[in-house]
Amino acid sequence: MKQKWIAGVGVFAVVSLGILTASGFQNEKDEKPRNEKEIQMYSDTDFAMDTVVMETLYTTGEDKNPLVGETLREVEQTLLSWTNENSQISRLNRAGGASTEVSSELLGYLEMILQLAEDSKGAFDPTLGEIIRLWDISGENPKVPGQEEVETLLQTSGYEKIRLEGKQVTLEEGCTLDLGAIGKGIGCDVIAEELQKQEEITGMILNLGGSSVMAYGQKPDQSQWKVALTDPRDVEGGYLGAIALKGGEFLATSGDYEKYFMEGGKRYHHILDPQTGYPVWNGLTSVTVVCDSGLLADGLSTACFVLGMEDALELLEKYNADGAFADEEHNIYLTAGMEERFELLKNTYTTKLLN
Ligand code: AMP
Ligand code: MG
Repeated sequence: MKQKWIAGVGVFAVVSLGILTASGFQNEKDEKPRNEKEIQMYSDTDFAMDTVVMETLYTTGEDKNPLVGETLREVEQTLLSWTNENSQISRLNRAGGASTEVSSELLGYLEMILQLAEDSKGAFDPTLGEIIRLWDISGENPKVPGQEEVETLLQTSGYEKIRLEGKQVTLEEGCTLDLGAIGKGIGCDVIAEELQKQEEITGMILNLGGSSVMAYGQKPDQSQWKVALTDPRDVEGGYLGAIALKGGEFLATSGDYEKYFMEGGKRYHHILDPQTGYPVWNGLTSVTVVCDSGLLADGLSTACFVLGMEDALELLEKYNADGAFADEEHNIYLTAGMEERFELLKNTYTTKLLN
């Protein structure tokens, strides 16, 4: 009996020694295989696209800075900015009805944007530039505008006023583009693409202001990435839940708590109903979407906020996206796919499964 036991240990020892010898031999001869290199974690906070940028990165490389902030600032300055008169959007907005050539990159985004505008029946509308400036909710002088002013500007907005012909883009006179609802999502897509070229980076989570998140690759322990979901009515910014993401997934949240002012007991926030030119008041306080594109997650969260829960479901299905809808009554409604990745952190909220 005793002998058998000793023999057992012996077998075990030989097997483990074999593994040690094999890997020791390989290390002497070649470079260490990539997956055996030490993975280091690196975190950074920056400011770009008008928001706080937080990244956590896992890498086997020496250079731990993938220049995230710089890349995002460049996307903003060359592509999206309203204040930089050389950005492609600024040039389009100044064209006064003339056609303008855009980069193939911007053309690709515009094609996706127009499709989303159509699929959401105009709930997502990239032409609200002038009305957004009139309200100035994200700016220095937010105010409730006169109804007539809003109605006048509504006449020159509408996604059907954008025409694409080859690389030429034409906006009807008076119509201006504002890509504020998808800018951060585009930023996440650009970074995800950059990461594909950087083999040493094994995983990364990028968070733009809490409202657009990109998950890339894996953590060394293979556990899922987790993103905290803000409680829209917690003035201290507490979290109502957590959402798990896999590498290659993007998350976006649109909420009435992000940019707003209160007047006469009413919350004037930054998500506008393109039909009326006024903030959307439908009982929702936030909408979170997860899918496999940053631009689409960001655009869908805005569109779904405008559409309201019932109409949003069809849109989410079409884009194979998961959604979570928080409302004034402290309910959080989850699509089936979202329920699997959602963890409730506050018992003042009730989760409900959709369809
Ligand atoms: P998000 O936080 O991604 O939902 O984007 C909100 C921003 O998108 C606002 O600050 C406006 O700049 C712009 N916006 C507001 N309403 C709409 C809408 N219905 N469609 C597209 N963009 C919008
Ligand atoms: Mg959005």
